[in-house]
Amino acid sequence: MEHLQAVAARRVAMFDLARQNAALGALLDRRLTAVLEHGRFVLGPEVEEIETALARYAEVRYAIGVSSGRDALLMTLMALRIGAGDGVFVPALTFSATAGAVVGAGAVPLFVDIDPQTCNMSPAALEQAVDRALRQGTPRPKAIMPVDLYGLPADYRSIQAVADYYGLAVVADAAQSFGASYGGRRAGGLARATATSFYPTKPLGAFGDAGAVLTDDAEIAEAVRSIRNHGMRGSGCVAEQIGMTGRMDTVQAAVLLAKLDVFDARLEACARLADRYTRALGGRVTTPTVPHGSASAWALYTIRTKRRDALRQRLADAEIDTGIYYPVPLHRHPAFRRYVTGAEKLPVSEQVADEALSLPLHPGLRDADIDYVSATIAEFVS
Ligand SMILES: *Cc1c(COP(=O)(O)O)cnc(C)c1O
Repeated sequence: MEHLQAVAARRVAMFDLARQNAALGALLDRRLTAVLEHGRFVLGPEVEEIETALARYAEVRYAIGVSSGRDALLMTLMALRIGAGDGVFVPALTFSATAGAVVGAGAVPLFVDIDPQTCNMSPAALEQAVDRALRQGTPRPKAIMPVDLYGLPADYRSIQAVADYYGLAVVADAAQSFGASYGGRRAGGLARATATSFYPTKPLGAFGDAGAVLTDDAEIAEAVRSIRNHGMRGSGCVAEQIGMTGRMDTVQAAVLLAKLDVFDARLEACARLADRYTRALGGRVTTPTVPHGSASAWALYTIRTKRRDALRQRLADAEIDTGIYYPVPLHRHPAFRRYVTGAEKLPVSEQVADEALSLPLHPGLRDADIDYVSATIAEFVS
């Protein structure tokens, strides 16, 4: 232990953004200087360039650069004309923006329990929730919004089967999973439309807020392009529908162009470090499950243990930062209380909220850091 601490000899931070940016160096400087020189800060040429690159990366026909992940979700729902009187199924354990976007569109979030293995929306619980909602009548079930929690794609094959049976649209919340894959396809191509986020701590992070809508559907793409720009089409000044100030900034596009060049190396580094954690921690705590045929983008490496809070304190004493994603399931947030019917059964979401603990995972970590964190946990649980 003491030897390992000496090796680490510094705080083990959850994220390390400044260091990653320093590593980008000249690439980033060149991109940012170009934007300062041409001065087209809104819908400049870099936005189109990153859209082409993102679509190619995610293997979809269209990518639309937008202001944030939450706005990407909201504008996708608006493009699908989902609003007042409509119900959208969301997992109960996710970031509040998932359900916040549904409420923003004027629709009602319907909470679904998660799977105990993957922590993603449970297809069986979804089917029960749809059945319950249909019997209740209002709100009308319209869409399913699975979340790729911690970077692992949800079970889209099973979820799409439920969606097809009941005639619902699937809108993926891939805010944490850009770069992940499932059944041979990348995140972005796993649902009719996908929203992702480039918030600084996401797998592909900008220098502020940014996001994208990814889709193969030309109509959705065109609608989102219009909605993000005040509901105008092309360069006209006539609002054809109600829109938003929802564009991706040119500066963020430039940052993302620089970071996309080294993104695969980042994904590989995180996957390797995650694997090192799992080999050290398997059998001691519950480690993340990655189903056969899936690859995680490793937005977070999240373990589970009944003694979560005590372990977190022990790690803090050892100068190891951790995070809890998420301590309170959505149906217990004051903002969403009025959408809770009381008929939902959400025991797994409640349990994971009590047991989840996310460990530091970023390319700035060395094997010795992972070993130090793992040894501290092993000592605690032994
Ligand atoms: C981060 C996140 C969002 C929101 O993305 P922003 O870019 O911060 O608006 C939505 N859903 C999930 C699951 C997220 O993790």
